[in-house]
Amino acid sequence: RPLQIGVTGGIGSGKSTVCRVFEALGAPVYEADKRAIWLTNHDPILKADIIRLLGGQAYDEAGRYNRPWVAAQVFRDPDLLTRLNGLIHPRVFADTISWAESHREQPYVIKEAALMRAAGDGNTLDKVIVVQAPVDIRIQRILRRDPHRTELDIRHIINSQISDEERLKMADYILYNDERHLLIPQIVHLHNEFFESQRS
Ligand code: ATP
Repeated sequence: RPLQIGVTGGIGSGKSTVCRVFEALGAPVYEADKRAIWLTNHDPILKADIIRLLGGQAYDEAGRYNRPWVAAQVFRDPDLLTRLNGLIHPRVFADTISWAESHREQPYVIKEAALMRAAGDGNTLDKVIVVQAPVDIRIQRILRRDPHRTELDIRHIINSQISDEERLKMADYILYNDERHLLIPQIVHLHNEFFESQRS
C-alpha cells in the first residue's frame, strides 16, 4: 500500500503549487475540492441525492450542476449547506478509496484538501503536510491570482478557516512557502524521504 500523504493549508498558502511540484516528481495527486466539483457533475448517486435534497433546479437541462444557484440556496441556509456537504463528503471519500486502489504500485500518493476532514480521510492518512505562509503574503498572492476578489473578502475567508495554530497541530511536516525559504527543495526532500521509506 502506498503511503497516503495529506497536503493542507489556508487559502492562498500554496497547496495547488505544492501539488504541481509533487506531480512533476511523479506522484499521483488527488485534489479533493476540485474532484468534489467534478463528482457533482459525474457521480450518478451524488446527482440523485442532490436533486432529492435541493430539487431539479440544481441541474440545468443538459444535466450540468448549477453551482451559482446551489451556492445561493445554501448561502442563506447553513443547515442546508451542512446537509449538502453530508451528501458530497461520503462520495468524495468513496472516490478517494477507488483512486488509491488504482495507484497501488506507487510508493506514495498525495491528497490535497483545504479541510482535511473534507476528504473524509483524516484516519487513512499516514502523514500530513501543512503549507505555511504569512497572511499578508497569502493575501497578496490571491489578489494577483483572482483580481475580482478584495482584501476584505480574503480576510473573511481566512477568519472562517481554522487558525494556523490549529492547523499546525495536524502537521507531521511543514512546508514554508514564504519569501525566506525556497519551496521546491523542501518538496524534493520530502519526496526522497517518502520514496526511501517505502523501499526499505
Ligand atoms: P487556494 O486555497 O485558494 O486553493 P492554494 O493554497 O492552492 O490556494 P496556490 O493557488 O498554490 O494556493 O497559490 C496561490 C497563488 O500564489 C497562486 O497564484 C500561485 O501561483 C502563487 N504562489 C504560490 N506559491 C508561490 C511562491 N512560492 N512564489 C510566488 N508565487 C507563489
